[in-house]
Amino acid sequence: MTRAPLQSLDQALDLLLADVHSAVEQESVELNKALGRVLAADLHARLDVPPWDNSAMDGYAVRSTEAGQSLPVAQRIAAGERPEPLPGAAVARIFTGAPLPPGADAVVMQEDVQIDVEGRVILPAKIAPNDHVRHRGQDCRAGDHLLGAGRRLQPQDLGLIASQGISEVAVWRRLTVALLSTGSELREPGSGELDAAAIYNSNRPMLAALLEQLGCEVRDLGIVGDTPQATRKALQAGASADLVISSGGVSVGEADHVRDVVAELGEIDLWRIAIKPGKPFAKGRVGSTPFLGLPGNPSSAFVTFVLLARPFVHALQGRRDTGAVALPARADFAVPRPGSRREFLRVTTRVEGGELWATPYVNQSSGVLTSVSASDALAMVPEHRTLAHGDAIEILPLHRLMD
Ligand code: AMP
Ligand code: MG
Repeated sequence: MTRAPLQSLDQALDLLLADVHSAVEQESVELNKALGRVLAADLHARLDVPPWDNSAMDGYAVRSTEAGQSLPVAQRIAAGERPEPLPGAAVARIFTGAPLPPGADAVVMQEDVQIDVEGRVILPAKIAPNDHVRHRGQDCRAGDHLLGAGRRLQPQDLGLIASQGISEVAVWRRLTVALLSTGSELREPGSGELDAAAIYNSNRPMLAALLEQLGCEVRDLGIVGDTPQATRKALQAGASADLVISSGGVSVGEADHVRDVVAELGEIDLWRIAIKPGKPFAKGRVGSTPFLGLPGNPSSAFVTFVLLARPFVHALQGRRDTGAVALPARADFAVPRPGSRREFLRVTTRVEGGELWATPYVNQSSGVLTSVSASDALAMVPEHRTLAHGDAIEILPLHRLMD
C-alpha cells in the first residue's frame, strides 16, 4: 500500500481551495429570515440616510447668527412631524430625530438655554453652525456600496438593509451537507448503556453543530459501520447533498473503507497533513459531489474541520468575507524540541501586561476532547521550531473559527 504524501497545511489548503466554486443557486429571502445567509450580490444604497437634516438632541433649532439673543418659540417639531420654515428672530422647539426647519442651521441643547419670564429662550453667547445637526446622507448616500456579495449577513447588516427600505435580499441557497460518522464501535447517546468495546459518537453532534453554525443544512446519515457495503450505501445517499463529510475511516487500517469506496464512486486523494492533531485527511468526490474525510479522533476532527473543512465550506457557500483570524500572543509554555508537524495546541488565553498569553491544556492527545472544551483558542507552534517561554506566537480564537 502506498503511503499518502505528507503535505504542509498551506499546501493542503491551496490544493483544497484551488478548484472549488460556489455550488448553490441564488434565492430571494425576506429580510427577517436573512440572518446568517450569504449575500449573492453587492448591495448599494438607494436612499440618503438620514433622508433630511435632523436634530441630534432635544433642544431648540436656531440660526447660529442669533446666538446670545432672547427669542420666542415659533413652532414645536417632534420626531415624525414636518417643520415649517423658521422665521427670523425665533427658535423652534425640536426633539431628537425631528427634521430641522428650513432656515435653522444649528440645534442648542435644552440644558444650554434659559427661559425668561416671558417664555423666551435665552440662547448661549456662542453657537457654531451645524451644532447637534445630523446632516442628510451622513450615514450613507444613494449609490454608496453598503455590503459586498459573499458577505454572511450579521444582525447589524439587517438593520442597515432595513434603513434602505429593502425588505428582501438575494442570497445563495443554503448549502446541504451530508454527514457520516464511520466506526462500528460507535453508539448514539440515548441508545442505552455501552457494551464492551463501544464508545459514544461525539463527532456527529460536534460536526453537525459546526456546520449549522456555518449556516449549512445538515443531513445526518448517522453511524456507518466499517463494511464496504454500509459505507457505499451511506455515501450514495449523501451524494445528493452539496457536500459529503465523513469522520473516521481515512487512516490506512484494514477497517478503513472510506478511501476505497469513495475511489470506487468517484475519486479520492488521501493526504497526511503535517499538523497535530489531525494528520489523516481526504478530499475527493462521490459522483460529482465534493467529499471531505476527517480523521476519527474527536480533537483531530475538530481541528481539521476548522482549519480545512471550514474554508472549503465557505468557498462552496460563495463567501468572500472570511479574513485572517490569527491574533498575536505570547507562549506561556516552552517547546524545547522542534516537531515535524505544525502543532495546534488547545490553550486558554488571558490578558496580562497588555498582551495575550496562551496556556496549553494539560493533555494535548488527539483523542482528548476535554482539551477543546476547556480551551478558548488554538495556539500555533510552527513546524521545525522551538519556543521559549514568552516567545511571540499566533493564536486562533475558537469563536472566530465558528462562523
Ligand atoms: P479512525 O479514524 O476511524 O481510525 O478513528 C480514530 C479514533 O477515533 C478511534 O479511536 C475511533 O474509535 C475514534 N472515533 C472515530 N469516530 C469517532 C466518533 N464519531 N466519535 C468518537 N470517537 C470516534
Ligand atoms: Mg474507524
